[in-house]
Amino acid sequence: MNTKIWLSSPHMGNKEIEYVHEAFNTNWIAPLGPHVDGFERDVAAYTGAGHVAALSSGTAALHMALILLGVGKGDEVICQSMTFAASANPVMYQGATPIFVDSEEETWGMDPELLEEAIKDRIARGKKPKAIIPVHLYGMPVKIDEIMTVAAAYDIPVVEDAAEALGSTFQDKACGTFGKLGVLSFNGNKIITTSGGGALVGNDEELIKKARFLATQAKDAAPHYQHSQIGYNYRMSNVCAGIGRGQMEVLNDRVAQRRANHDYYLNQLGDLPGITFVMEPEGYYSNRWLTTILVNPAESNGVTREELRIALEKENIESRAVWKPMHIQPVFEGAPAYVNGTSEKLFEQGLCLPSGSNLTHNELDRVINIFNEVMQPQKV
Ligand SMILES: *Cc1c(COP(=O)(O)O)cnc(C)c1O
Repeated sequence: MNTKIWLSSPHMGNKEIEYVHEAFNTNWIAPLGPHVDGFERDVAAYTGAGHVAALSSGTAALHMALILLGVGKGDEVICQSMTFAASANPVMYQGATPIFVDSEEETWGMDPELLEEAIKDRIARGKKPKAIIPVHLYGMPVKIDEIMTVAAAYDIPVVEDAAEALGSTFQDKACGTFGKLGVLSFNGNKIITTSGGGALVGNDEELIKKARFLATQAKDAAPHYQHSQIGYNYRMSNVCAGIGRGQMEVLNDRVAQRRANHDYYLNQLGDLPGITFVMEPEGYYSNRWLTTILVNPAESNGVTREELRIALEKENIESRAVWKPMHIQPVFEGAPAYVNGTSEKLFEQGLCLPSGSNLTHNELDRVINIFNEVMQPQKV
């Protein structure tokens, strides 16, 4: 059997292990310590975010964001339907209702016009949404300027889910730094990893300080354990933050490597009938966390996304259907949704290709060969 090609696997640099050793040598084996502080400074410097709280996961950061914005029982929060479930689950943790909004075709992110329709309709029905959570999908910036304009018009705070988009920018400004709060993830399959981890970023120092406070069990300043608010155990471990410090040093290389993967695929597969790539509109810079394509059977001689995925799997190559939209997930059945057909089409035709920054040309060629075999059998 050929060696396994993963969709997106961790890629360590040289320094991570040194930082981890340092944590051991100084016995900072806890969800606080110098690496946590250092990692927060590194992320702030890289993204230009005013303030950063390093947390245990991106999901925890999203949950924290909703708590800080006062989202509670019975509230409504607008979510992007086309996303990973972790974007919407924290809304449920708070006893609130997710209102799903479909995507536009250019970036695959939340459709700003449909967002405005949804807001108007929710207000007409008697509840103004408490927050909007757009997602920079697969690293491609969402139409954040238009979304911010709509959000401002109705005075609704934006929480950017930039879990997939560290290193991506819109008009040279980092994804995650446009909204009131932004969320990053350092899970094992993301562009850089701390094994598991996340961050909440924002310019409002008081909010980020409060996030750190709530994430460490909300201990009041008192000589004994006293609590006047419900706390969480959501802080990042100092050992994980050590990994993160090393990863931040190679982040620009990782972005360059993933972008090169995308360009290589585009070059080799871009002319196949029925295959389309997601191009960057002017001013959009994607970290190309995952290279995604659409396979349109009407133009590909009937070849489907699923056929390609299975053919790759047979050769020990992991690829993946794009996210199944939240508005058709069993767990969110009955949640209000404003749809235009885009996310369902993307789900039907969309495929994520192996995109790790540690893939070799030889491995990329194995993927490309399968495409050629399946799509142009007469030429092979
Ligand atoms: C990975 C991811 C998350 C969750 O991050 P974790 O660190 O895994 O909890 C949230 N939203 C999106 C879009 C993601 O891809």
